[in-house]
Amino acid sequence: YQTVNILNVPVAALTMREAVAQVQRFIDDKENALIATANAEMIMNAQHDAALREILQTAELVVPDGAGTVWAAHHLGYEMPERVAGYDLVQALLKEAPKRGDRVFFFGSAPGIAESAKNKAEKLYPGVQIVGVRNGYFTAEDEPEIINEIREAKPDILLAALGVPKQEKWLKKYREELGVPVSIGVGGTLDVMAG
Ligand code: UDP
Repeated sequence: YQTVNILNVPVAALTMREAVAQVQRFIDDKENALIATANAEMIMNAQHDAALREILQTAELVVPDGAGTVWAAHHLGYEMPERVAGYDLVQALLKEAPKRGDRVFFFGSAPGIAESAKNKAEKLYPGVQIVGVRNGYFTAEDEPEIINEIREAKPDILLAALGVPKQEKWLKKYREELGVPVSIGVGGTLDVMAG
């Protein structure tokens, strides 16, 4: 697939199927990859937030989350086959996780939300291994314990739902320590899953 430069954010022009395959490749190769789902709001934030922009420019994959991102690519004259929404990408990965044996950690959202999302996921995707949950409200002193929890759970996929740009900055800061093959900033996805 090609990468389209939208206001200095490199967005992958790929289908949902291709995005899922790419993420699974990162897992199989134990890449320590950072994945972002770029909607118009994130791309606008990246214009005035240089740290966020740098994270997106160095992320292993930025998918087009939102009609605005796809529209912008088309407006610039590039092909962009479809919208790859973070929520949908997560569902597709969870669906295939049982047969692949992918282990998933839910990190973020208000207390109780990640647990509810885990219960929902276990009903929707029988056999899925949600190997840890942790809410997204913490202080700097809590961080070593959170990092330990994630490390010990040994997930293949870490979903970070702390909001933009907190989740991207947190993942970037701790990616080496965490050593997770794939980390994805997923915004409100756990809230939606919890219902
Ligand atoms: N959140 C969190 N910790 C924080 C701030 C926010 O866990 O310090 C969570 C919040 O509870 C919500 C998610 O981050 O579940 C952000 O969702 P939103 O839909 O606002 O995401 P965005 O629009 O930023 O992608």
